[in-house]
Amino acid sequence: MMKLYLDFDPCQECNTMMAELSSPEMLFADQKKRADESAKFLRHLTYNHNEVVQAVMEDLPKQKRDQEFDFFK
Ligand SMILES: [Zn+2]
Repeated sequence: MMKLYLDFDPCQECNTMMAELSSPEMLFADQKKRADESAKFLRHLTYNHNEVVQAVMEDLPKQKRDQEFDFFK
């Protein structure tokens, strides 16, 4: 998932949230807490960095096509 953010220039808020998401506390947090934090970050991206969300959406079908292509090789 994170590879999709390669061309993305994170703002201060992004940096804070990404640091929180990869912190040891979060890695050992329960599933719900991690899902909540991921959802918060995704919401921030949607409102503040919509071009990233667009890029992710455009990339997904392409990945699916690549997988199907592999399947038929
Ligand atoms: Zn941001």
